[in-house]
Amino acid sequence: MKKTMNASVHETLEIARSLKELPRERAPRSLLPAVLQKVGLGDTYWRIDSAVGEIYVAHSRAGISMVSRARSTREFEKAFESRFGRPIASDRTRPPANVKALVAGRLRGKDANLRFDLRDLSEFERAVLRKALEIPPGEVRPYSWIAREIGHPDAVRATGSALAKNPVPLLIPCHRVVRTDGHLGNYSLGGPRNKRRLLEAEGAQPATLEKLAASGVRYFGNEAGRYFCFPTCGGIDSLLRENRVIFSSQREALAAGFKPCADCRPAAVA
Ligand SMILES: [Zn+2]
Repeated sequence: MKKTMNASVHETLEIARSLKELPRERAPRSLLPAVLQKVGLGDTYWRIDSAVGEIYVAHSRAGISMVSRARSTREFEKAFESRFGRPIASDRTRPPANVKALVAGRLRGKDANLRFDLRDLSEFERAVLRKALEIPPGEVRPYSWIAREIGHPDAVRATGSALAKNPVPLLIPCHRVVRTDGHLGNYSLGGPRNKRRLLEAEGAQPATLEKLAASGVRYFGNEAGRYFCFPTCGGIDSLLRENRVIFSSQREALAAGFKPCADCRPAAVA
């Protein structure tokens, strides 16, 4: 019995070895993406109009993996291939409505229920991006808010780096994260100018926000409800609401007996 088994193991190894040595037929490289796309396994991309021009959205069954601008389809395909080491083909189908609504800033990221392929990122980076998905269009949050919300209040700089590396800007709205001092901060999809353009398109009024921050306004308190908020909580119209009290720090708001708003959570609840 033992001998038979050894023999069969030996034979299997021999077969495996000979298979390895067989010359392999290689499909022409340019054919691969199209074939993989047909069987639903490949990476494909849509071209979608956005407030910052046409963008390319790469996706596969694992989720959406990359969003970027490019001067041509060839440039985008090359950028994708050099980043992921595999080819990509154009998707002939129309992008789904929720993807278009996200790109247009009409939908909160976490409500779109999209899958993102973020396997290349660290757990920390994924946590930062997942948190950014919660910021509604028309609102902004400081970098320090994300850091605190994900349980790393001291990692503000690392939070900024994670957002700068966001492989799927616009869909995960890192443009809605700004500096506490009123500066808009960096943006991977074309720099601060595009960040401003996107925030304007979403109605967040970045110029107003900068002016407020420059004059030391960080929070608004609601006198009647005795709670305080980030200025954009509930949309910029909240700036005009009655019973408004201005605070320049959390400490000031808390000392005045105001509680952090449960929606925008401007401070940790004690
Ligand atoms: Zn609020």
